[in-house]
Amino acid sequence: MLRRFFAIAVSMPTTCVVGILWGDEGKGKVIDFLAADTDFVVRFGGGHNAGHTLVLPSGKLVLHLVPSGIVHPHTVNVIGNGVVVDPVHLCGEIEKLQARGLRIELGRNLLLSERAHVIVEAHRRQDQWAEALRGAGRIGTTGRGIGPAYSDRCARVGIRLGDLLDEKRLRAALQALVEQKNALFGSAGMPPLDLDAMCAQLFAAGDRLRPGIVDAGAVLRRAHAAGKRILLEGAQGCLLDLEHGTYPYVTSSHASTGGAFSGTGLPPHAMTVVGIAKAYSTRVGEGPFPSELKGEIGDRLRTAGNEFGSTTGRPRRCGWFDTVAVRYSGAVSGATELVVTNLDVLRGFGPLRLAVAYRMPDGVRTEDMPAFDLASAEAEYVELPGFDEDVRGVRRFQDLPRNAQAYLQAIEQHTKLRIRTISVGPERDQVIPR
Ligand code: GDP
Repeated sequence: MLRRFFAIAVSMPTTCVVGILWGDEGKGKVIDFLAADTDFVVRFGGGHNAGHTLVLPSGKLVLHLVPSGIVHPHTVNVIGNGVVVDPVHLCGEIEKLQARGLRIELGRNLLLSERAHVIVEAHRRQDQWAEALRGAGRIGTTGRGIGPAYSDRCARVGIRLGDLLDEKRLRAALQALVEQKNALFGSAGMPPLDLDAMCAQLFAAGDRLRPGIVDAGAVLRRAHAAGKRILLEGAQGCLLDLEHGTYPYVTSSHASTGGAFSGTGLPPHAMTVVGIAKAYSTRVGEGPFPSELKGEIGDRLRTAGNEFGSTTGRPRRCGWFDTVAVRYSGAVSGATELVVTNLDVLRGFGPLRLAVAYRMPDGVRTEDMPAFDLASAEAEYVELPGFDEDVRGVRRFQDLPRNAQAYLQAIEQHTKLRIRTISVGPERDQVIPR
């Protein structure tokens, strides 16, 4: 019955779910819901720095690379070409999920694009070295090699999953990469990479993943042509998008809807885009955050919302809901509807504030997302009364406290996005349809 709540979202054969701000919006829970009515769930970007948390009847499950549809026996899960894959991590993640009792059959319910780029030891080392060099200007990467793997893809020296299937091809590709990296690491006084060890480790991982490595784009195009329901699962969020996010504090892939086509091999076609936003804002790592709450309220919000990264455990910075940022991301992603999560967390935080404009350092007021100087922008707020009631058991919009209803309606008014669904707790059934 709960699936009915998302009926509008899945009325088109293809639905794309994106985080509206900087990730961690609760996409895992929403995708878990939508996946129940879907044939294919496809990850189109990011690496194992992303983490989706599902709260299932059997307990909590955190996924890093494997798409969230894996908990539904009938869905085919695809890691698209836009994802960068650490094959050793992926083998470990599959084993952990299997140990939890999940059925994962490579080539049947888990497919990996042969065109997806691979993270190797050189990338991890380069990531940590570059972040250390940045000093105070660090971006806040997770140091897992994701940025360098994407850079090497652009520099045309990357390794692809399909390369792992042929030892000769793998060695040739690795040799070129290792020569380049050793020149770089040597100049930084770091020890050289061991080509033979890297080759052996990657070939072994490739052998393990072999049954799943396919032309995933062709599979998806055929599925789309056959009218199959496809759910495209975004990682991170629109404001971390390489092009449209808060550059340079962004991720190295296209986390907004633009990546959904380039990262899967599906042709552009009409689809529903669902934006996921928390009832407040969070950001992990460095970068501008105009509505950030630095004092006691921010600390309380972090505790109430358990705002610690599911992959790294890093505390998330917390702030008020930012309608400027959400309106911008809604426009860039093409989202026509919002799912607002974590409304339950705002209990007792009244009066509530919504950022509705920014005052820039030169005194100019803007309701648009600036490309520069966001770190010095001051948010302007409207204030609304809060609510003290526990909303976790509420299942109908009209049963929410009046102030909570008014708060959500104010978000709609300022973002120009319709809120279709409200999440009031981590569990599957803690959902309110509109
Ligand atoms: P994702 O990367 O967007 O999937 O987000 P994460 O999984 O990193 O973080 C979302 C966290 O919030 C997870 O621990 C979820 O179980 C939890 N969560 C999701 N929806 C709700 C909600 O409505 N209320 C509360 N309190 N927690 C939620």
